[in-house]
Amino acid sequence: MSYVGPDFETSESRRPRRGPLTVALAALVPGALLGWLVYEAVGGTGGGSGSSAGAVGAAASASAPASPTTPTRDDDKASVSAKPTLAPSVSTPAARSGSGSLKGGLTGKVIVIDPGHNPGNFQHTAAINRTVDIGTNSKECDTTGTATNSGYEEAKFTLDVAQRMRTLLQRQGATVKLTQDGDRPYGPCVDERARLGNQAHADAVVSIHADGSAAGNRGFHVILPGGVHAGAADTRTIVAPSRELGERVAGNFVRVTGTAPSNYIGDGSGLVTRTDLGGLNLSTVPKVFIECGNMRDSTDAALLTSGAWRQKAAQGISEGIVSFLRG
Ligand SMILES: [Zn+2]
Repeated sequence: MSYVGPDFETSESRRPRRGPLTVALAALVPGALLGWLVYEAVGGTGGGSGSSAGAVGAAASASAPASPTTPTRDDDKASVSAKPTLAPSVSTPAARSGSGSLKGGLTGKVIVIDPGHNPGNFQHTAAINRTVDIGTNSKECDTTGTATNSGYEEAKFTLDVAQRMRTLLQRQGATVKLTQDGDRPYGPCVDERARLGNQAHADAVVSIHADGSAAGNRGFHVILPGGVHAGAADTRTIVAPSRELGERVAGNFVRVTGTAPSNYIGDGSGLVTRTDLGGLNLSTVPKVFIECGNMRDSTDAALLTSGAWRQKAAQGISEGIVSFLRG
């Protein structure tokens, strides 16, 4: 497959621009399907131990000597409440793509991007440690997030990817809002992050993260909201569309970045369902998180710290959102 690390060819060279409709079809039809083929080949074979994933894992363990990790507070590492089902439904996103080109095709659509954490959280620990009500229970307002072993912070990664996504999606006519844009000292709290998507009546919300797991753990995963109905949390109406959104994001992320689904969570599917995240529990609009890679693994960190790779990550997530919005 396309697991060639950071040196893979650019998507521009693979998909030369021809005309708007051709581009639309290339992006939405074969792209999405190819993404799924790659995705299924890697993650849908039971345990993610297929030849491609195995080779990636071997390469990772060979090039990533075990090093002690310094745990960093991150709500991304809480328990997983449910295993995802494999067998994502491949609907045909081509159905409604004939009416226009990509350019301007998202006019009227509202997308909220939530860059996880905040670079200023480290300086405002008391403020971010206060608890907020997430419906099912109480949780810290926000967390610092993790960092690579060389000190590249998750919060800087998430903001950079979010800003790149905004550029890509605005170019297609969408209204794009960020929950924070490096313009506030800390936070926002997870309940406010959810509220911002709700109040914007967003058609889709994606929260951007990178994980802080052990060295040797590699790859991305998308976190889907599980069904919760307690206090202010009621995800019953968003579980299904959020899964659809998450599957589109995962498939396009594989296709555009060439990165494999996680080898340590999600059974190779790249999809994980959780009921402990306030940002998901309090959402009333379709929303997923994506953990783009593991900052504590040196091979993943080499990708996460690369601006060229972050551009691909932004493109993959954005194309997943576009695919979802076009139905
Ligand atoms: Zn995070």
